Amino acid sequence: MNTENVDAAEIEKFSALASRWWDTHSEFKTLHDINPLRIDYIDRQCGGLAGKKVLDIGCGGGILAEAMAAKGADVTGIDMAELSLDVAKMHLHESGLKVNYQLITAEQFAAENESQFDVICCLEMLEHVPDPASIINAATQALKPQGTLVLSTLNRNVKSFMLAIVGAEYIMKMLPKGTHEYQKFLKPSELAQAARAASLEVIDITGMSYNPLSKNYSLGRDVDVNYLMTCQFI
Ligand code: SAH
Repeated sequence: MNTENVDAAEIEKFSALASRWWDTHSEFKTLHDINPLRIDYIDRQCGGLAGKKVLDIGCGGGILAEAMAAKGADVTGIDMAELSLDVAKMHLHESGLKVNYQLITAEQFAAENESQFDVICCLEMLEHVPDPASIINAATQALKPQGTLVLSTLNRNVKSFMLAIVGAEYIMKMLPKGTHEYQKFLKPSELAQAARAASLEVIDITGMSYNPLSKNYSLGRDVDVNYLMTCQFI
């Protein structure tokens, strides 16, 4: 398997945390907190997850993959951190859900599964890979002609630096220092450009923001820090 687009240090970071994927008070608390919002978003964007064939790229311990399976989707989850996949597989015994987990790169998987998926998600992962455009190209290859691709990542600006790195890693200590690298954050325009280069059209961009007073996350117009993007073939 060609692992050119896998940053070994990033996989190490996630492997070290793998046992805590399902601990809702752990480093993965934010992913648990935003999960209902993003599941609703994906469900709306694809016209209903039930019965759809779905690929989750960078699935980790399966927080998103399981929630999509619970909605009635036929889900495949891929990741390059073996320990995370072990945790994800183990958790299926607890949840009673069915997800097909595989240790494989997006590029390799796409080459073996051309035009197979109704919905492909790649959430909070693009900012951890050397070449995000290559992941988008792979997703495009695995997508059916009428399929829906949903991406999410962190925007790159002073506010996202202050909130996602200084705030979350240094002040609130919600994430280990070094979890995120500012240079790898992607502006919506950059992500849209990569999507267009892959013959995709951006049909929606929605922000995901945190209100520190109410301690709630919500979807809306504010794409300054975290955002979701939906693409379809032109
Ligand atoms: N998508 C999940 C997890 C996000 S954390 C969610 O939103 O809940 C980022 C995940 O991407 C980790 O599980 C990490 O192991 C994975 N990852 C990082 N680089 C990767 C790569 N090159 N190929 C596959 N998975 C990768």
